[in-house]
Amino acid sequence: MIIKPDGLLKSLTGNIITALSETKLKIVAAKVVKVTREFAEKHYSQLLPGLINKFGEEKGKKVFEEVLNYLQGKFHTDRILALVYKGEDAVQKVRTIAGETNPEKASPTSIRGRYGRIHSETKVFENVIHCSDSEENAKKEILLWFKQEEIVE
Ligand code: ADP
Repeated sequence: MIIKPDGLLKSLTGNIITALSETKLKIVAAKVVKVTREFAEKHYSQLLPGLINKFGEEKGKKVFEEVLNYLQGKFHTDRILALVYKGEDAVQKVRTIAGETNPEKASPTSIRGRYGRIHSETKVFENVIHCSDSEENAKKEILLWFKQEEIVE
């Protein structure tokens, strides 16, 4: 799970971790990261086709750039907080409390429903946190974001 730069700037770290504590999952890693453009591209290596599908080629590429800028903190603060939650059905439990990707569609009591917004100019869903969408992607993302020795089992 990643608390994105808007989550940090808005001092939502405590609220987010408290909301996720309902899952009873164990935190096994946590760190602050300054995200480079190259790293943001790696994290979002699967995202561009969906944005082109929604916005068309030219606008989709522009929105993708803004999503990369968003993760780098160009609109908020230049850091994120990455955490690894471990336990049964961890991916599903975190996603339920996070809410849908689109903060306007997310349940109003979910993290994204409460704190997210759609930026009217960039069209980016500023949805405060990222969470993995499958076990397979969770494994990939943990490998991308963390070194083995940073994970405390
Ligand atoms: P999630 O973070 O819920 O797994 P995705 O990986 O599909 O969602 O998208 C990554 C990020 O890109 C989102 O969190 C959001 O900031 C942005 N994004 C995704 N899809 C859209 C969209 N259709 N319009 C605007 N921003 C989007």
